[in-house]
Amino acid sequence: MDKKDIYMIQGTDYKQMTLELLRACGLAEAIGDRHKKVGVKPNLVAARPASSGATTHPEIVDGVLTYLQEEGFENLRVLEGSWVGDSTAEAVRVSGILDVCRKHQVEFIDLQKDRSVPCKAAGMEISVCQKALEVEYLINLPVIKGHCQTAVTCALKNSKGLLPASEKRRFHSMGLHRPIAHLNTVIHQDLIVADNICGDLDFEEGGNPVTMNRILVFADPVLCDSFAARAMGYEPRDIAYIRIAEELGVGSTDLEHAVIHDLRPDRKQEAMLAPKGRAAALAGYVDAKDACSACYGSLIYALDRLDEEGLLRGKKRRSIAIGQGWQGESGKTGIGRCTRCFEKNLPGCPPSAAEIAAFLREEWR
Ligand code: SF4
Repeated sequence: MDKKDIYMIQGTDYKQMTLELLRACGLAEAIGDRHKKVGVKPNLVAARPASSGATTHPEIVDGVLTYLQEEGFENLRVLEGSWVGDSTAEAVRVSGILDVCRKHQVEFIDLQKDRSVPCKAAGMEISVCQKALEVEYLINLPVIKGHCQTAVTCALKNSKGLLPASEKRRFHSMGLHRPIAHLNTVIHQDLIVADNICGDLDFEEGGNPVTMNRILVFADPVLCDSFAARAMGYEPRDIAYIRIAEELGVGSTDLEHAVIHDLRPDRKQEAMLAPKGRAAALAGYVDAKDACSACYGSLIYALDRLDEEGLLRGKKRRSIAIGQGWQGESGKTGIGRCTRCFEKNLPGCPPSAAEIAAFLREEWR
């Protein structure tokens, strides 16, 4: 798999989707030696289930461990340290990931109990948990979701779970962006399996999940976070830690030259969680008929960006059409190729939140 590659799959059979992705990207060949110490790092920020939009789905961890064991890898561990104030032991239990580890007889390492080692990180000293540094091939399983301080969180910020509590506190006192970028000069993420199933609209602790039903694989964490930023309606270089990480040589924001391998290009409408909280309020502007979840979710993220800019004020409810049920019908404003007969239409299948936000901004100007 090349750094420019993005493997993508859509659906609701999350374990099977993970297996298909890992087979397609040739993970076993990339790791090589079956005795290598392989670390799997989910996002267990707090003791919340994945359906809240905060944590990695256990089906993804199950898919990764199943694949690795089928391919003969024996030296596996799952490792994580939750945020300060929450217990990792509780978070791994509540998430269902502890049961997955037990099923596969793979050790779960609670990094809140680990020692740390000071490391040089491109001109900054950062202490990192020792067990994380011992890993020889790191598979990161972040959730694509919003964050109250950094707007977006995904692969680069998920590395913060490999720090001791004192260092996590120091990162917050430093404003997060710069230390996160520097940390990723020490932590090498070999593969990223990004959980884009139902990440939170704007808060890392969950509560406003936005259904997207998508899983993606990247070899470059900066490209991964650039994709996540666009998927949530931002330009990658507007997110400071993504920009700084690129400047430090961690990876590239160049989505224009990325090569997307869409493993299930036939779009199907899948079951979605009912929008909650702020996501439910934004859904009031949408007239959906059989919309695919990635299309619908992208529109919700785009409306959130436009709401922040004050552009939703005075807009009519149910004024934006989306979904396969609109094919062949006419109307005023429609999103995605299914509404191509509408007066104003944004093509794409699905378009990203950044594209939708730019289109509606232009329409409403
Ligand atoms: S454009 Fe239509 S088929 Fe494509 S993702 Fe959107 S709703 Fe689905």
